[in-house]
Amino acid sequence: MDRRSLLRLLLVIGFGLDAKSRATASAREGNERMSQQVIVIGAGLAGLAAARELQNHGFQVVVLEGRNRIGGRLWTSNKWPDIPVDLGASWIHGLVGNPLTELAKRAKAEIIETSYESNRLYDVDGQEIAEAKEQRLDRLRIQLESAIESAQDADQDVSLRRVIDRVAVRFGDNVETRQLVNFLASSTLEQEYAGSVERMSAQWFDSAEEFDGEDGLFPGGYHQITKFLADGLKIETNQVVQQIDWNQDQVRVTTNKGEFTADRMVLTLPLGVLKAEQVEFSPPLPNAYRSAIQKLEMGVLNKCYLRFPRVFWPQDVDWLECITVKHGEWVEWVSFARTIKAPVLLGFNAADRGREIEAWTDQQIVSSAMATLRHLFGPDIPAPIDYQVTRWASDPLALGSYSFNPVGADPKLRRQLAKPIADKLYLAGEATDHEYFGTAHGAYLSGLRAAAQIIDN
Ligand SMILES: Cc1cc2nc3c(=O)[nH]c(=O)nc-3n(C[C@H](O)[C@H](O)[C@H](O)COP(=O)(O)OP(=O)(O)OC[C@H]3O[C@@H](n4cnc5c(N)ncnc54)[C@H](O)[C@@H]3O)c2cc1C
Repeated sequence: MDRRSLLRLLLVIGFGLDAKSRATASAREGNERMSQQVIVIGAGLAGLAAARELQNHGFQVVVLEGRNRIGGRLWTSNKWPDIPVDLGASWIHGLVGNPLTELAKRAKAEIIETSYESNRLYDVDGQEIAEAKEQRLDRLRIQLESAIESAQDADQDVSLRRVIDRVAVRFGDNVETRQLVNFLASSTLEQEYAGSVERMSAQWFDSAEEFDGEDGLFPGGYHQITKFLADGLKIETNQVVQQIDWNQDQVRVTTNKGEFTADRMVLTLPLGVLKAEQVEFSPPLPNAYRSAIQKLEMGVLNKCYLRFPRVFWPQDVDWLECITVKHGEWVEWVSFARTIKAPVLLGFNAADRGREIEAWTDQQIVSSAMATLRHLFGPDIPAPIDYQVTRWASDPLALGSYSFNPVGADPKLRRQLAKPIADKLYLAGEATDHEYFGTAHGAYLSGLRAAAQIIDN
């Protein structure tokens, strides 16, 4: 662990102080801060983490949230009361040392581990992949990894697509190679980072750090974490922020319902919302921030949950993957048969394909998913009894799923976003975290960072 990560961990441990020590610290600092008001915009993980930390340190905090619910891109649906499903983030990525693992313990939220090793891979013909072909795929994977490493040492950045194409040509550019590289591009790059390989920077797409260990999901839903953090906070929902005036001594926020003022503000608007300039800043944000916002990009990952009367797929694995004729078409599925004993499959569509299907009707999405499942498991599989689909790119309060680094972006941009503006505005949210962007823990840590900047000021 490097020094910076250690410092951040200490910050997190600080957050984890028992109630008594926190109360003592709060009482001491609180006297000085009772009069200081902070507005936190957004009740996602970043906003809730910041608000809670600031409140624990004696600040008067109000959270303004545009939706009628808290959680933002953590969103547990209770449409199926017996099977809560997460429409936003599902996993804690890397359970070891991850601050969310500790938080889950304190929230008494059960976690079940899943493993990418626990998978079954199907070929374009719908059959389990033959051993010889799987070995070819493994060789291709190794060549792609090594080509990406070389691209990361090159002077000039290129898109991942350029690197992939070079590897394909060397491997013998034919239909089979194309299908295999597209499978790797979709399953290991686009589904994870949400950007299209046409856009993602070969040098920086994976510049984020990772925690060790398996991934874990919440059988009871990720909302247990946001509910735990939100406890005791003053949160105003249905307050869509339209304008932020930070020219005066106090910051002034205008929402669809009224006006709020405070000494300082933590702003956790998703990158998509910032890029679309839906919120008017007066004066405008400084150039360096605007430029960073425009250079970073928002990716797309969409989910389609299908609930069946019974499990008809292999019950002993977490992941079903398939090599497809069309790039990115229902390449990855998660089965909930092993983890929570539920006859539920979750199919993903990422990047360009994820964006494309948002224009489809629910019925078109479900029919397309079922066509893939029939291809894999035969024409007699039962129809789903229900479904839940997401459209994160069209969601006006998200405008995408999570941020990625396109060609031309590097970690300096996120570092820039994390710098306080005039000791008044503090940006937080996953996109502002250069170490763990695109993740729930990145959002959480960014909120703690913004709070620490205010507390230390
Ligand atoms: C489909 C999907 C799958 C994912 N899977 C994972 C995963 O498995 N593991 C993982 O670690 N991460 C995952 N992520 C990423 C993770 O969910 C996000 O990084 C994280 O939740 C972002 O938190 P945040 O607080 O930065 O932003 P948000 O949660 O988006 O919070 C920002 C808040 O601001 C509000 N807001 C926006 N505009 C306005 C406005 N004008 N006025 C007032 N309020 C406004 C929003 O409603 C929102 O509540 C996934 C994301 C998606 C979409």
